Amino acid sequence: MSDKPRTFPLSLDALAGKPSRQGGATSLAQSRIVRPQTATQNAAQNAGRGAAPVYGAPAGLTPSRAQAIANERAQPVPVAAPRQNPLVSDAVRRAMVARVARLGVKDQLVLDAMQAVPRHLFVDEAFASQAYIDASLPIGHQQTISQPYIVARMIEVMRNGGALQRVLEIGTGCGYQATVLSRVAKEVFSIERIKPLHELAKANLRPLRVANLRLQYGDGMLGLPQAAPFDGIILAAAGLEVPQALLEQLTIGGRLVAPVGDKLQHLQLITRVGKMEWTSAALEDCHFVPLRPGTI
Ligand code: SAH
Repeated sequence: MSDKPRTFPLSLDALAGKPSRQGGATSLAQSRIVRPQTATQNAAQNAGRGAAPVYGAPAGLTPSRAQAIANERAQPVPVAAPRQNPLVSDAVRRAMVARVARLGVKDQLVLDAMQAVPRHLFVDEAFASQAYIDASLPIGHQQTISQPYIVARMIEVMRNGGALQRVLEIGTGCGYQATVLSRVAKEVFSIERIKPLHELAKANLRPLRVANLRLQYGDGMLGLPQAAPFDGIILAAAGLEVPQALLEQLTIGGRLVAPVGDKLQHLQLITRVGKMEWTSAALEDCHFVPLRPGTI
């Protein structure tokens, strides 16, 4: 697949990603601490000044490296009216992607996908000028659009340099991560349990005409047996454990990435290695909204 930025709409053929790099061993030692913070706090902190919030210094790093990351996050990014000017949105998005790369995401296919998807179209107009800072933002119903770094990181870990055929996301929210996924996998399914958010994602996606993405209203803890198996599953909400139904909907060799925990959370990578066998690795700390059962 070309590394050049592409525009919507995409044909399915254009999305059949060839591996851009092999191996891509995930550094399990790498660990970051992101202080629990709400999207509302982010929005308040950043209102009108366009600077990214400074999170806790990553654990296990030298003070100078930690400071570099803190500085990185405090860098002002150009803020203008991205909805009105595609050139502005392209430039601020480039700054966002450069920051995500400096924070450690190396997968070029993922970085290209982040560059291609207009994040500002997934947030309320009131937050459009903050769409490209590295923070989660409110999308209503006490939910958030995830921070760009974590979106990229989870997809990078799930992909591991390989070609993804069929991917499932639990927690569509506004549809942003699902749209990024649609550029790295051949087919994407995404489930949301809150009806108005499912409708919001559909509305956000309509003008982008993403042919290989299916949105489903339902309880993602049950997975999507009618479309299984998946070679990748991403949870965008944190449970105390990963639901067994999801583990059983992975292909053998498939990888699931999920935030796990309550107040203290970390990313968990689970790989299905046999019919009844999975391996698990704890990655960096993170902060997500809770995974909840049922639909509303
Ligand atoms: N993927 C989004 C993040 C959305 S926040 C992005 O692109 O930024 C997480 C979402 O998970 C919320 O919308 C929440 O309603 C949803 N969620 C929580 N539990 C769920 C479940 N059991 N099934 C489906 N969605 C769920």
